[in-house]
Amino acid sequence: MKKPFHFAESLLNWYKNNARTLPFRNEVSPYAIWISEVILQQTRVNQGLEYYRRFMARFPNIKSLAESTEEEVLKIWQGLGYYSRARNLHEAAQQIMSLYHGQMPSSYQELKKIKGIGPYTAAAISSIAFQEVIPAIDGNAKRVFSRFLGINTPVNTSSGSVLIEKAAFSFIDPFQPGNFNQAVMELGAMICTPKRPSCTNCPLLSECIAYKENQIEYIPLKVKKHVVKERSIFYFVFYSKAEDTVQLIMHQRTRNDIWKGLYDFPSLEFNEAMNVQKVIESEILKQQFPYVKFAELQSINGPLKHILTHRILWLHFSVYELSVMPHIENKNHTIYTLHEVLGLPLPRPIEIFLKEFMGKTILV
Ligand code: SF4
Repeated sequence: MKKPFHFAESLLNWYKNNARTLPFRNEVSPYAIWISEVILQQTRVNQGLEYYRRFMARFPNIKSLAESTEEEVLKIWQGLGYYSRARNLHEAAQQIMSLYHGQMPSSYQELKKIKGIGPYTAAAISSIAFQEVIPAIDGNAKRVFSRFLGINTPVNTSSGSVLIEKAAFSFIDPFQPGNFNQAVMELGAMICTPKRPSCTNCPLLSECIAYKENQIEYIPLKVKKHVVKERSIFYFVFYSKAEDTVQLIMHQRTRNDIWKGLYDFPSLEFNEAMNVQKVIESEILKQQFPYVKFAELQSINGPLKHILTHRILWLHFSVYELSVMPHIENKNHTIYTLHEVLGLPLPRPIEIFLKEFMGKTILV
């Protein structure tokens, strides 16, 4: 095993001279570190930065986040995906207000008790804000450590995780754990990238086993865990025009499923491919949305393909004009003006549909 000091020293020297300037770097506020870590999970840095700035401007501290509504948080998050992150942040802020007097706990173990804060985020906050000596292991760190040590055990198995964690504990600099963790992640993001890593610019090159043994393209090894499922969603866009106001029936997604808490249109969903004509003529449609009988079908759009992590969605949009808005019995369906709809938290494809297609359909 390499001497920990050698690894940390080479890495930290490189980090000092090469780290990107990001607004949350040098940040000591645990709240800001928490928000930046959550936003940057599963998000490219450029996109994440814009959301980070907007989020911090709207919710500058735990109190303001806790006192907002879930819808306000989802609206700021709109377009970033993985909406459970936003819902968890909101709930966590309320938990911190009630259980920790509004102060983020400072230890790894205590942080993990908070809603949505897993081992990686707890380690990032406790090491960067409170200098706790604990490695923060994300996908970048797994790649760097497994390549450096030539680990052939899949990194997404428990035995792989144990090996990576052992390596990280042996390498971490006990005097600068926060910088060390950020340096590992930065190296993974900038140099030791998944494809075509820039090894000749890497401070670990001389000792890297994957490089020496020509194993870079095979490490990190992963076992496939998820099968991508397909789903067809048939949206029914019911609207009416009265003078210069347009009203729409919107549906709030309340189930533990994709886009929970966000708004889309009334829909029928199937876990298989379906023929759109058969769906719009089906009895089930008339039973679920009786007012479809009084509506005029204006257009059928789609399917629009939308990819989520473990799902491919095929979205169909049937647009219906109603002469008057009906009485609505379904408690998840609500009538809004178009202006109000644009202020609701919307999944990305619904936002795109509304802007591109409804603009053409309604405003003619
Ligand atoms: S030498 Fe190449 S493979 Fe090894 S850690 Fe550096 S960038 Fe990654």
